[in-house]
Amino acid sequence: MVPALSIVVPVYNEEESLDELHAQIVRAVLVSERSAEVIYVDDHSRDKSLAVLLRIQASDPRVRVIRFRRNFGQTAALAAGFDYSRGQTVVTLDADLQNDPADIPKLLAELDRGYDVVAGWRKSRRDGFLLRRLPSIVANRLIAWVTGTSVHDTGCTLKAFRRQVVKNLPIYAEQHRFLPAMTRQSGARVSEVVVNHRPRIHGQSKYGIGRAARVFLDLFTIKMIAQFAHRPLHYFGLFSLPFAAISMIALVFGVWDYRRMRFEAAWPDFVVLVVGLFLSLALYFILLGLLSELAVSASGMHRRRVLDRILNDHE
Ligand code: UDP
Ligand code: MG
Repeated sequence: MVPALSIVVPVYNEEESLDELHAQIVRAVLVSERSAEVIYVDDHSRDKSLAVLLRIQASDPRVRVIRFRRNFGQTAALAAGFDYSRGQTVVTLDADLQNDPADIPKLLAELDRGYDVVAGWRKSRRDGFLLRRLPSIVANRLIAWVTGTSVHDTGCTLKAFRRQVVKNLPIYAEQHRFLPAMTRQSGARVSEVVVNHRPRIHGQSKYGIGRAARVFLDLFTIKMIAQFAHRPLHYFGLFSLPFAAISMIALVFGVWDYRRMRFEAAWPDFVVLVVGLFLSLALYFILLGLLSELAVSASGMHRRRVLDRILNDHE
């Protein structure tokens, strides 16, 4: 039977948390939701996480375990979870007991109010201020400003999605943080609910302050991909503009100079050089834009990024 709800959990060196986590997921969701599965994605842990997961899987038929052959990171683990999940609703949460599975019903209720994505908001976040909360506040403001999606806490892993939103969604690097922004660009209705957050008891955080820089860079990638996929020719056309402008100015300047010299002198070599070089650069970007239009339309990227909905009579 295909489960209605999939819970996806990325796991990297969390051996001490897993038994308690699964017990909490069972209490919070699996007791009432009969039709659910839990997908644990082991991101090639070096501790006994895999053994613990396999033991949990052996005792609970709703559990599926995926094991990466090397450590690919949290985003890759979530992406694999999305790919293997079967439920019409997909919930993601961290394995370290910082997210509280008891919040899952709240997220599902909000989804039922007609949203496609519901993000958890760790309003009182239990992490250090200087290295974790402050960079996160700055990042959230920046992401909201650049992408136009105002979710308070886009870095919180506890989120709920409709299947249609996450299928065919290519994410890599640190991009799981941008899921509210990326899905909204496809037309998803995004909401948020305040969730519980607990300090980490077992193991250590897998990230340092270096993550802030990676998230910052990924923000540009997201913006670029969104704009690029929309109309690559416009995007590259913009690049070609300054080059075209410079070559035109050089041309006008050259013609004016030529007339002033009353046809006595030949065109200065450097004018010919500037016009030729910058004009070909402008042309180069236009051609790149045209080729990209072809690639984007051939790959069906436009179609995949658009969310649609079959409206039945009873809706
Ligand atoms: N994680 C992972 N692969 C990694 C790093 C982290 O699957 O390379 C998992 C980790 O086990 C946890 C979640 O991603 O379930 C969040 O990691 P962490 O708690 O270290 O991040 P923080 O809460 O400190 O931001
Ligand atoms: Mg954590």
